[in-house]
Amino acid sequence: MIIRIPCTYVSVVFTAALVSFSGCSKETPTQPSLTQSSLPTSTLPVLGTCNSTPNYISQVTLVRWAGGVSGLPLNVSINVNRNLPNLSAVAADNYLDGAGLGARLWQTAMARHASRSFPLVTVSTNNSSAPIQLTVVDTPLPGSESGAFGSATLGFGTVAGRTVITDVQIRLHRPALAGAETLLRNRVWSPLQFNALITQVVAHEMGHALGIRSHSLNAMDLMAAGGNRQNGESDIDNWISTADALTLSHAYCQ
Ligand SMILES: [Zn+2]
Repeated sequence: MIIRIPCTYVSVVFTAALVSFSGCSKETPTQPSLTQSSLPTSTLPVLGTCNSTPNYISQVTLVRWAGGVSGLPLNVSINVNRNLPNLSAVAADNYLDGAGLGARLWQTAMARHASRSFPLVTVSTNNSSAPIQLTVVDTPLPGSESGAFGSATLGFGTVAGRTVITDVQIRLHRPALAGAETLLRNRVWSPLQFNALITQVVAHEMGHALGIRSHSLNAMDLMAAGGNRQNGESDIDNWISTADALTLSHAYCQ
């Protein structure tokens, strides 16, 4: 079964310009999972704590990875084709670096906010066997979501009668990010500013990829529909809120 995550738009202010920032996409029809045979058949390891507060577990649908054979830590393959049209070397470098930072951000947050240690994520490049594939693409999301910077598509299987995530495709959509690439090319934005945007988009999509299937209603949470707008680009370790971390912890508490 393949699910794409619903999303709405907001705007986020970076120091030099106003850009549209959006996380995700909407649900699509289901398909068979490709990796069902690799799943463990026993119970799922307890990694998180239930109902720790603050959280927004009542506002979202949670799901988890199984752990075990197909499981944690999850490898995220970051795939940036440097031959994409009009992709500058500095933009490619910062897609790669920003995505790596964003992919790792939950690891830091769970260590800080959750009482258990989560072996969540490792990062590689162009690794086709990784269960989470993150790719910079030249295609936008369709229709009204064409302004979305990123999207996450989740595949599911069943373990011990429970639905678990088996594979995820995260996409960064260059048509929506063209404005940011132009700001970088024209040196209105520094590489660091572009990098920070990519980090934030990827961290939000990783929240979906790890198990938070929908959005917090609190704009101070990274998993709000438009990401956490409170902290701008100054302190990335605060972009994932305590509520974000404890909500994800709940997804892995049983
Ligand atoms: Zn989202």
